Amino acid sequence: MQTVVGLSPKEALKQFFGFSKFKGLQEDVINAVLERHDTFVIMPTGGGKSLCYQLPALMLEGTAIVVSPLIALMKNQVDAIRGFSETDGIAHFINSSLNKTEITQVKSDIMGGKCKLLYVAPESLNKDENVEFFRGVKISFVAIDEAHCISEWGHDFRPEYRRLRPIIEQIADCPIMALTATATPKVQQDIQKNLGMLDAKVFKASFNRANLYYEIRAKANVGKQIIQYIKANSGKSGIIYCLSRKKTEEIAELLQVNGIKALPYHAGMDGGQRSKVQDKFLMQDVDVICATIAFGMGIDKPDVRFVIHHDIPKSLESYYQETGRAGRDGGEGVCIAFYSPKDIEKLEKFLQGKPVAEQEIGMLLLQEVIAYAETSMSRRQYLLHYFGEEWDPVNGEGAGMDDNSRNPKERFDGSEQVQMILECISEFKELHKAGFICKVIAGIKTSEVTTYKGHLSKYFAEGKDSDEKFWNAIVRQMYVRGLVMKEIETYGTLKITPEGNAFMKKPQPFMVVKEEEIGETDDDDLIIPKQGGGAVDEALFTMLKDLRQRLAKEKKNPAICYCAGSCHGRNVHTVSNHIG
Ligand code: ADP
Ligand code: MG
Repeated sequence: MQTVVGLSPKEALKQFFGFSKFKGLQEDVINAVLERHDTFVIMPTGGGKSLCYQLPALMLEGTAIVVSPLIALMKNQVDAIRGFSETDGIAHFINSSLNKTEITQVKSDIMGGKCKLLYVAPESLNKDENVEFFRGVKISFVAIDEAHCISEWGHDFRPEYRRLRPIIEQIADCPIMALTATATPKVQQDIQKNLGMLDAKVFKASFNRANLYYEIRAKANVGKQIIQYIKANSGKSGIIYCLSRKKTEEIAELLQVNGIKALPYHAGMDGGQRSKVQDKFLMQDVDVICATIAFGMGIDKPDVRFVIHHDIPKSLESYYQETGRAGRDGGEGVCIAFYSPKDIEKLEKFLQGKPVAEQEIGMLLLQEVIAYAETSMSRRQYLLHYFGEEWDPVNGEGAGMDDNSRNPKERFDGSEQVQMILECISEFKELHKAGFICKVIAGIKTSEVTTYKGHLSKYFAEGKDSDEKFWNAIVRQMYVRGLVMKEIETYGTLKITPEGNAFMKKPQPFMVVKEEEIGETDDDDLIIPKQGGGAVDEALFTMLKDLRQRLAKEKKNPAICYCAGSCHGRNVHTVSNHIG
C-alpha cells in the first residue's frame, strides 16, 4: 500500500483525529481501502462510517470523492474534518449552494494537492464540467455514503444515485466504497449490482443494539402516556418523533404546559431557529425535542435516554434509524412507539398519487411495520431478521429487552397450522401474498379470493375457527423463522424456503405465540396536570371532557378549551389552568 503520510492507520488515527483506538470494523475497512479493494460497509448509525473513508483519504495520494445526498450534512462533515486538521482547504464540498468563485477555490485546492476529501451531491457529480475536471486530477477513491439511496427497494430511493457507476468510470479507474446504515438483504444486493461491485469486500457490523429496549403501545391517550413517562424520567433527554410539523408543535406545547422543558423542531423552521433548538438540546437546556424526522441527522448526542414515536414510521428502516439515536453511549435507551391501525391508513393515503411502483414498495414497507407492531415475538428478533441477521431470542445479547419478551404470551404447538399454510401456498404455486393465503384458509370470500379461485381450494375455510389475523400472525412467525420468504420483486409474494420444504416433508413441533390484537383506539390527548398543581380528580376531569365533547356535538362546534383562546382551540391546557 502506498500512502503519502508514512504513518500506519493507527498512527494516522491518532495524529489526524486524536483517537487512540479504532471502533468495530474500522481498521479492517481502512486496510481494504488502502489495498485498493472495492468495499461495502454496513454499520448502524453512529458506528463510525465517516472515518472509514476520511482516514484513508488523508493517507492516500490525491483527492477522495464522497458522494452524499444531504447538503446540510456535507457542511457539517467538512467543518468537522477541518476542525481536526490545520491544513487549509483539506476538505471541501461541491453542491448547488456554491457560487462560481467558491467553486474555483475548491478546484484550485484540489489541483494544488491540498484537498484530500471532496464531498459532492450526486447531481453535481453528474455535471459535464465537473466530470471533465475530475478526469484531469488524481482521484484516490470514490465513497458513496447513504448508499441505500441506490435501491428502489429501500426506504429512501433517489434516482440520481442509480447513475453513479458510469460517471465514476468516466472519472477514474479507482476503488469504490459504499456505506449505509440500513440495508435489508435485498437492498444490499441491489447496491452491489448497481455499483458493479459484486466482489467487493463486505464489512457488516451487527445491527443489534443490545442496550435499547423496544416497546409498542396501543395509541390511546398518547399525550397522557407521554407525560407520565417523561415525568417518571425527569431530567433525562429524549426525542419524540411526530409525523407532522403541526403535531410537533402541539406536543411540545402540551409538554410545556405540563412543566416539561420541551421544544419543537421541524423543517418548516428557519435554519437559525433549528440550530438554536439543537444547541439547547445538546446543552441540556431543554430535555425533550418534539420533532419530525428532520431532526437527528447529524446530531450526535450520546445520552438520549428515550425515543418515543408518537406516530408509527413508514418503514422499519426509519424506525431503526430513529430509535438508534437513543443510548448511543451504551447506557439506557428506551424506545416506545405508539401504534394504531388508523395511522397506517394515514400513511397509505400519503402513498396515493405516487407512481404505482413506488406505491407498491411503500405498501410493502408498511406491511413490515404492521407486522412488527402487531407481533408477539421478540421485537429485537423481528427487527434483526428484517436486516438479514439471525439472532437468538433466548441467549442473544439484548435478550429480554422488549415488551413482548418481558410479558411473554401463551405459546402453543402450531405445526398443523403451519403445515396447512405451506400446503396452501404450494397449491397456489407460490404466487400470492400472505393476505390471500390467510383469507382462503379463514374462509373469507373477497373479489381477489374468487378471482384466483381461492374459494374452490380444498383449504378454503379449513381454518375458519380462527380469523384472518390469527393466520397472519402464524405466517409472520414462519417468515421470521425462515420457513417462508417474501419475494420483494413481486411485492411480497410468499415463497417456500428449503427449510419450509423440509418441514412439509417431515413436520416438527413449531411453537408459536398467541398474538393479541392491538385494538382500534382513538388519538385523544388527555391532559394531566402540572406536578404540584394541586389535587386533580382524573375521573372528574374525564367526565368534564366528555361533557364538553357532548355539548360541542350538540352545538356542532369543535370541542374547544374554555381558556379564552390562548391555547388556540387545541385543548392543550391542564385542568388547573383552563376550564376554571
Ligand atoms: P455513522 O456515519 O456511522 O453514523 P459517524 O461517522 O458519524 O457515524 O461517527 C459517529 C461518532 O463516532 C462521531 O462522533 C465520530 O467522531 C466518532 N468516532 C468514529 N470513530 C471513532 C473512533 N475510532 N474512536 C472514537 N470515536 C470515534
Ligand atoms: Mg454517516
